Amino acid sequence: MKTYQVIQELETTGIVSAGITLRHGGVSRAPYTSLNLAEHVGDDENAVATNRKIFSQQSGLPDFHYCRQIHSDRVIEVDSTANTALKQHPEADALVSTQCRVPLGIFTADCVPIFILDVATPAIGIAHAGWRGTLARIAVNTLAQMKTRFRTLATNCKVHLGPSIQKCCYTVSTELIEQFTEQFGNTVHKGRNLSLQTTNVIQLIEIGVPAASISVSPFCTACRTDLFYSHRAEGGQTGRMLSFIQLNTKN
Ligand SMILES: [Zn+2]
Repeated sequence: MKTYQVIQELETTGIVSAGITLRHGGVSRAPYTSLNLAEHVGDDENAVATNRKIFSQQSGLPDFHYCRQIHSDRVIEVDSTANTALKQHPEADALVSTQCRVPLGIFTADCVPIFILDVATPAIGIAHAGWRGTLARIAVNTLAQMKTRFRTLATNCKVHLGPSIQKCCYTVSTELIEQFTEQFGNTVHKGRNLSLQTTNVIQLIEIGVPAASISVSPFCTACRTDLFYSHRAEGGQTGRMLSFIQLNTKN
């Protein structure tokens, strides 16, 4: 059974592996059925370890780096020396790197996984954007960190927003809608239904990522609990998908 979806828009560049895991093919029991890859959600840790082995065998990727996600705008660089420190999984919501064969991962179950590939440098980034991270402009901050550290230019970047809860299912408070429309305009919502995808696309275009270089997954996690975990559709207790990106070569 295939355990992950490939992000074709990024893999066609030939320099990265990128994807998001599906919920099937693992050993976790309900409500984490079955390929839960996160250990912070209350699942049996042996099941999570087995699931990670299943994933790494199928993907052929080495151990991935990840952070303890806190719905912030904090970005961490994974460099050749930071690997030991990263084993402790510092608090952050995005990772960036220019290292080859070092997969970066984030966990989601409705929040938007944002994959960034600077094709020219090359460099990679991955960010976790729920409504808090989106309001805090985590995607913008991730690109800013890539610019500071790697001289990444937004014009050279391809960005993909992975499967996440979409406007069809993401009803929020009127207060939150107001906060979003104040900053990002009226195209980000329909009534009390919010589009985190549109909001992030607006932010990315504002900082110079070409619209043609941005792709958005058609999958809504809340509509498709047959394929994905959805925090909202499953009452808050469920597993997490892993979104991952790895630089394979320096061209
Ligand atoms: Zn939906």
